[in-house]
Amino acid sequence: MKFFKLTEYFERLEATTKRLEMFDILAELFREASPEDIDKIIYLSQGQLTPPFEGIEIGMSEKLLVRALSEAANTPTKKIEDLFRHTGDLGLVAEKLITGGQKPDVAQVYKELRTIAETSGKGSVEQKINLLSSLLRGVSAKEAKYIARFVIGRLRLGIGDPTVLEALALSEGDRGLRPELERAYNLCSDLGLVAKTLKTKKIEGVRKFKVHVGYPIRMALCERLPSSEDIISKIGRAAIEAKYDGFRCQVHKDGERIEIFSRNLERTTHMFPEIREAAKALPVKTAIFEGEALAYNETTGELLPFQVTIQRKRKHGIEAIAKEYPLKFFAFELLYADGIDYTEKTYLERRKKLESIIKDNPVIEPAEMFETDDPKEIYKYFEEAVERGLEGVVAKRLDAPYTAGSRNFNWIKLKRSYKGELADTVDVCVVGYFMGKGARARFGIGALLGAVYEPETDTFKTVSKIGSGFTEDEFTELKKMLDAIALKHKHPRVDSVMEADVWVEPKYVVTVTADEITRSPSHTAGKDSEGVGYALRFPRAVGFLRDDKNPEDANTVKEIIEMFEQQRKVKVT
Ligand code: ATP
Repeated sequence: MKFFKLTEYFERLEATTKRLEMFDILAELFREASPEDIDKIIYLSQGQLTPPFEGIEIGMSEKLLVRALSEAANTPTKKIEDLFRHTGDLGLVAEKLITGGQKPDVAQVYKELRTIAETSGKGSVEQKINLLSSLLRGVSAKEAKYIARFVIGRLRLGIGDPTVLEALALSEGDRGLRPELERAYNLCSDLGLVAKTLKTKKIEGVRKFKVHVGYPIRMALCERLPSSEDIISKIGRAAIEAKYDGFRCQVHKDGERIEIFSRNLERTTHMFPEIREAAKALPVKTAIFEGEALAYNETTGELLPFQVTIQRKRKHGIEAIAKEYPLKFFAFELLYADGIDYTEKTYLERRKKLESIIKDNPVIEPAEMFETDDPKEIYKYFEEAVERGLEGVVAKRLDAPYTAGSRNFNWIKLKRSYKGELADTVDVCVVGYFMGKGARARFGIGALLGAVYEPETDTFKTVSKIGSGFTEDEFTELKKMLDAIALKHKHPRVDSVMEADVWVEPKYVVTVTADEITRSPSHTAGKDSEGVGYALRFPRAVGFLRDDKNPEDANTVKEIIEMFEQQRKVKVT
């Protein structure tokens, strides 16, 4: 496919705000794409070069783009900056200035963008500028517009993963294929690979999809219930594990090669040298397992709070911090070992194999676990766990498989709750902000507009206006970060009746605690036919931003409604 053709699709996608129309346009695009191009087209449409877990970024700032444009169009940077100030969109500036006529293929443009991304080290800035300017010089105005937006991360067509899956199913003329596509996606986290498999091997090929070491598996998540009685009546005899409060890691071992992925499937191997070494020593050739990494006191064996563990999150000086705060890794799931896919096996089978692999290891140990059908025993253990600084417990259904990428009652969490507070915090995605009044006005930001996610429509529905919980410095920092992703209009994936002073791209997630959930006409989450949705009462932010979560990892509308239902029946056991 010609890249020009792809930009015509981009234009059509941009022009619509209707989700259904968007699915149709994308399905048409996917049908037209060749098996060689389809993965690249999907990555590009989502503003990426590869699936996010590969961590390949183009590494160009607006400044560098201005310089590349200046070279490509033989125009002084000053003039480009003026135009940029005027339009606020370097894509439009590029469209105005670039007049080339060649129409390269998608594969060619992709290859050149990839070369730019892979250029690093000394002198790479100049090299990147040169590469980009020569790419821009050869293309037409419309192509330049989208390339410019792409390289600075401003493509923003609003195409989330569920939208791609839906459109892929549609492109085969059968929406009923979506669950099978989703299953494959959950096993490899690579929409390009799923699409390519569909194109080349049809749905039969997708059905045969298996776990691959090196491709992160989308993580299973917990449902919540208010009491241990509820848990036993829901799933019967269960495995009760400690709920550790650290970093969730998915470790992939392929001989001596170890990769570690975070909660949102980013490659974080460099952060955990001791887990890497410890994983090499395990008595299996290949394996995928999950667990929680926590800082601990080597002398007393005591686990340290999350604020200590999180210091590991840095680019440099890992060795020093690893010495100061060594980690323990509590493994709670085995997903693959020596050619066998354990995601399909029952909890008990997975656990048995996990225990046989992980023993006498100085860093990695199996998570604490016992089996019971007695709510009192769960509650007793829960109290002790909380006393020891753990977050609570996770109950797991004994005969359930590992359900990749899904939140269901195979895992149920029970967390500490305080009187007058919701039993659990809520993660919301920031979709806009308000300037604030009075003393706040001087920061130019007084409250955030938070939204929860609705996977069925792949949209964000507002649930809360969050004006407390942040320090003045944090508000200042937030304003800077949000202004960098500000939009002229509400983002197409956001549904809101409130008018934010500044709309932003859904990108950042904040954890919020609140007194309760109420019904409210001001918000769109769970809105009924009378226009009444759900809202958080007295919300306050906990911590700063959750950078281990993607926008789609915010809580869902369905969960908010469940929490609303549950708060009416919470018992104090
Ligand atoms: P939370 O804020 O509760 O961590 P979450 O959305 O990240 O919310 P949940 O589904 O609520 O995830 O809880 C699962 C999380 O709990 C996992 O992502 C993992 O990090 C952590 N965890 C700690 N101990 C365990 C365990 N034994 N089994 C499964 N998950 C555990």
